[in-house]
Amino acid sequence: MALESVIIAGGGMAGFATARELRSRGFTGQLTLIDPEGLPYDRPPLSKDYLLGTRTRDQILLAGEDWFRDRRIEVLAGRAAALKPDEGVVLLEDGRELAADRIVLATGAAARKLDVPGSDLETVLELRNRADADKLRDVLRPGVRLAIVGAGLIGAETASAALALGAEVTLVDPVDPPLVPAVGTTLARRLHRMHEERGIRVLTGIPAAITVQGQEHRLALADGAAVYADAVLVGIGVVPETGLAVSAGLDTDNGILVDEHQRTSHPKIYAVGDAARVRLPDGTLLRRAEHWEHARNTGITAGAALLGQELPNHGAPWFWSDRHGVHVEGVGSMAGEGRVVIREKEGLPAAAFRLDADGRLEGCAAIDGGFTVRAARRIIDRRIPVDPAQLADSAVDLRKLAR
Ligand SMILES: Cc1cc2nc3c(=O)[nH]c(=O)nc-3n(C[C@H](O)[C@H](O)[C@H](O)COP(=O)(O)OP(=O)(O)OC[C@H]3O[C@@H](n4cnc5c(N)ncnc54)[C@H](O)[C@@H]3O)c2cc1C
Repeated sequence: MALESVIIAGGGMAGFATARELRSRGFTGQLTLIDPEGLPYDRPPLSKDYLLGTRTRDQILLAGEDWFRDRRIEVLAGRAAALKPDEGVVLLEDGRELAADRIVLATGAAARKLDVPGSDLETVLELRNRADADKLRDVLRPGVRLAIVGAGLIGAETASAALALGAEVTLVDPVDPPLVPAVGTTLARRLHRMHEERGIRVLTGIPAAITVQGQEHRLALADGAAVYADAVLVGIGVVPETGLAVSAGLDTDNGILVDEHQRTSHPKIYAVGDAARVRLPDGTLLRRAEHWEHARNTGITAGAALLGQELPNHGAPWFWSDRHGVHVEGVGSMAGEGRVVIREKEGLPAAAFRLDADGRLEGCAAIDGGFTVRAARRIIDRRIPVDPAQLADSAVDLRKLAR
């Protein structure tokens, strides 16, 4: 039976990409996108240009109202509260009930809460959505003391933006250096060192409690040290939004479990983006990805799968991050066994390559090295054999090795 209607719950990059893909692949049926935040917008700028004030609310929209109207994609402001999977029904928080042939869960993830006394204080901030960014932006002014818990991607980006806005930033992380699984130890060290070089106070420690007296927050660390700040931001990762799936009885395990078609354990329901996690046919659970391109790609896959078309091959996963004026990119996986080769530029580690036991390139990360990462991606995807000595030699153009 031809597909006549699709409801997408969640209008982040993954939900948006699913809708866009369905239309660009010729789906003419009814298409509804539900999100409490209204028109889809892009999240990466929230810790970068939007926080800095160099991009506006309109400039971070993934598309304007006209775009949705022209494509007959109905954007409903609302929150999906429950599903009736067999009937293809989505119940909204406000009591409305919608039905479609297929439902796509694109509910993303929520900021992980810090599990210490005081972390639920209203003045303890997080950064996942536009309202969070607006709240943070309101407190960031020259001289304000900001303590950030977590120096991973979002913590580090926010520290960099806050510093640029004149804040006095203290960055606390239990691990030194953070980000090793994403970029490898050598680049992680260089990136983490940049914070102190730019004037951020960096502490290695485990938060134990947050108290507030008047306007002043006291972030106590387990070793007895304390950080005093006007505001505290917690950036310690995310948890997938699986609530709808759990209550509907779908299989979940740190994510809504899907196959390579983005199909959940119920035939009428698909899941995409940060909320979804792939379970292979043999039961192996893949690591859940939490990056922008992955969200977009899973939406593209879901669009193809819903229409019964051939699935695209997206190749090795890729992410980027920006801090202190440098651009970081990673492709494939830097985590795991194998040999790591470092390429230097002007005496500093600029790229890291991870090779598996057979000498195949598995992952690459680079600082201000977009060409390098693009070439590495090609090498990984095509399984092109590479010589570690050439990877390490900055005089060798990696694009030549990727041919
Ligand atoms: C501040 C920040 C900076 C980032 N920077 C980068 C970066 O530099 N590079 C990179 O690769 N990645 C980055 N990311 C990660 C990237 O943005 C995410 O991987 C991507 O947004 C995931 O898209 P998604 O659609 O799966 O989820 P989300 O973007 O989280 O969207 C989910 C949507 O679902 C909605 N929703 C939730 N529950 C319901 C419900 N019950 N009913 C209806 N709607 C619901 C939410 O309101 C939300 O709009 C960043 C993320 C953040 C927060």
